Amino acid sequence: MLYERNIFQKDYRKADIRFGLCYPNIYRTAMSSLGYNILYNLINEREDTWCERIIFPNIKSVESNTSGKHFNIISFSLQFEDDYFNVLKMLKDSKIPLKRKDRTDDDPLIIAGGPCASANPMPLSDYIDIFIIGEGENTINSFLDIYKKYPNKDLEKFLDICGIYIPEYDNKTKITLIRNMDETYHITRPVISKTDDDNYQGVFSNSIMLNVSRGCTRGCRFCMAGYLYRPIRETSCEKLIDISLETRKNTGLNKITLIGAAVSDYSNLDKLISSLESEGFQISTPSLRIESITKKTLETLKKSGLKTITLAPESIPRLRKVINKEILEKKIFTVIENAVDLDFNIKLYFLIGIPGETMEDIESLCEYMKKIAHMHKNPRKVKFSVNPLIPKPHTPLQWESYDFKDIKKKTRYIKKEMKNYNIKCESPKKGLVQYILSCGDRSIGELIEKSLTKPLTLKEWREITPDYDIDDILPWNNIDVGVNEKFLRIEHKRLKNLKQTPWCETSPCYNCGACEK
Ligand code: SF4
Repeated sequence: MLYERNIFQKDYRKADIRFGLCYPNIYRTAMSSLGYNILYNLINEREDTWCERIIFPNIKSVESNTSGKHFNIISFSLQFEDDYFNVLKMLKDSKIPLKRKDRTDDDPLIIAGGPCASANPMPLSDYIDIFIIGEGENTINSFLDIYKKYPNKDLEKFLDICGIYIPEYDNKTKITLIRNMDETYHITRPVISKTDDDNYQGVFSNSIMLNVSRGCTRGCRFCMAGYLYRPIRETSCEKLIDISLETRKNTGLNKITLIGAAVSDYSNLDKLISSLESEGFQISTPSLRIESITKKTLETLKKSGLKTITLAPESIPRLRKVINKEILEKKIFTVIENAVDLDFNIKLYFLIGIPGETMEDIESLCEYMKKIAHMHKNPRKVKFSVNPLIPKPHTPLQWESYDFKDIKKKTRYIKKEMKNYNIKCESPKKGLVQYILSCGDRSIGELIEKSLTKPLTLKEWREITPDYDIDDILPWNNIDVGVNEKFLRIEHKRLKNLKQTPWCETSPCYNCGACEK
């Protein structure tokens, strides 16, 4: 049974717009998404709109059990490409025609946002009416104002809003991002849920999600978030403390999860943690960037109740250069040593399939992981997660493909070699599908739709794997995320020549173009 507090109940007869905020993944994932929670509260602050959540696999709203097809607007939050299947399934189960060309004025307007929609809307472009490119809280109110004024399906009116891509017009658009984190909307009355069912328990449930920063300019070449959401923007320490105190007053919650692409790069991290600690909060964070972790940070996090440290060394030193994630070996081992001393559980993420990676590199990677595991007196207490590298749009890897055979061979080797350790390897097929959904064009939509009735075979997926040339016009060409193409090409060359690009916060500007946003 699920109990929720702080949800919005309104009289639907008084709302001009009924907004179905759909999340195409389970409740636990939905309610752990800060962006999803922000939109829910932000839209409901409007008196003219009632925003209700519809969370997969349900097709009726949590708030009033209303079916999707009765809403004026249905919006999908696209955080993961794998969720595209669930988007079409939710539309189909709600008896809403899948393709936008088959829908009429009686059907809801279907919109989508989130990182996947922002990076490459093409795979779902025959199904979604409007994509919001960038951080949705920047756009949603202008969008709703226009909808209220022109509720019919004259989509042309929305072209005036910055950060809107309308497949019908195939318009060029530029991402829109929040400039000032202190002035943007933060939640202080989040939905709190109570349940004994794991599927309903949010990952950060019973904790205040505190958005310390957005964006990251470290420049890891595989990281789409790092390229989409530049430059880095921080919420001030004072503001974060105010938000925490206000939220505690409204909810009684005492635990805080620090959220941001690069939490440990936050310029005032130690001050923030100790200030929150002195207010009696317990603090945790889902991931930390190794270079910025000090012993003091670990001690403070331990004291405030954090049990597991998640780190991402990604690969062996030679290949870290290819992906521009250079971390000193000494630093990695010191952090792990400190984490072991403080009795943290340790989880480490690694990538395989990095351009230029050989089988010898994979052998070295296994030795590397074993060395780390044996730093703990019980090596099984160190968990490894090994995932195929998925080239993503708007990154220097966008011209690379996905070599299924190579990844399969490497995964098999690692599983055998590491069988006595605590390791989980992602399936090479899942990686392949994710790559196709990330970097595919408009034609991919048909296959997603087809797979609703009969899942595609591995052979079928392999036949449609994109393989772009450096001179090709890429499917996401109309989406400008602010990082110039020339810079991405230079970065692609540097990748091939193992050249590093320094982190822009500590080095002279390297002209990625993002600061002009
Ligand atoms: S440090 Fe993390 S968030 Fe930043 S670019 Fe690298 S992988 Fe992305």
